[in-house]
This record gives sequence, structure tokens and C-alpha cells, in this order.
Amino acid sequence: MAKGKVEIRIESCKSCGYCVKFCPKGVLAIGENVNQKGYQYVVAENPDDCIGCAQCGQVCPDAAIEVYREA
Ligand code: SF4
Ligand code: SF4
Repeated sequence: MAKGKVEIRIESCKSCGYCVKFCPKGVLAIGENVNQKGYQYVVAENPDDCIGCAQCGQVCPDAAIEVYREA
């Protein structure tokens, strides 16, 4: 199974939850901390489960997630 890694630009996240809903592996979750705009930003709660499918990055309206594929 492919492995991936996500990097979240916390200041771009508006806490819409799309990425959390669309991630097939349950990697992402709305975190408890807020960014400078007052949004509870997303965190990679289960980063080891990420398969690098990039669905999260595609659904994010604010381009807040960068996905890296690992060999
Ligand atoms: S790349 Fe895929 S598996 Fe990884 S966090 Fe995003 S949606 Fe989930
Ligand atoms: S889809 Fe983007 S803006 Fe929405 S919660 Fe996820 S990272 Fe934040």
C-alpha cells in the first residue's frame, strides 16, 4: 500500500471539514487549536494511515493541504 504524507497550512484552513469527510483512511480531524483567523484547523490525527491519494488536497477549497507520495 502506498504511503503518503500531508502538510497542512494551518493559516489557510477554514475548518470546513471537507477533507476530514473525504479522506478514505480517517487520517484527518478538526483539531482543538485555532489559527490566527480563529478557525479550528485540521490536523493529521493518524498520519501513518495516509496513502497519499490526494483526495483531501483536491476537495480543500482553500488549498490548505499539500500531499506528498512516499515510495
Ligand atoms: S492523501 Fe488521502 S489518505 Fe492521505 S490524508 Fe489525504 S485523503 Fe487521507
Ligand atoms: S478542506 Fe481545507 S479548509 Fe476545509 S477543513 Fe480541510 S484543510 Fe481546512
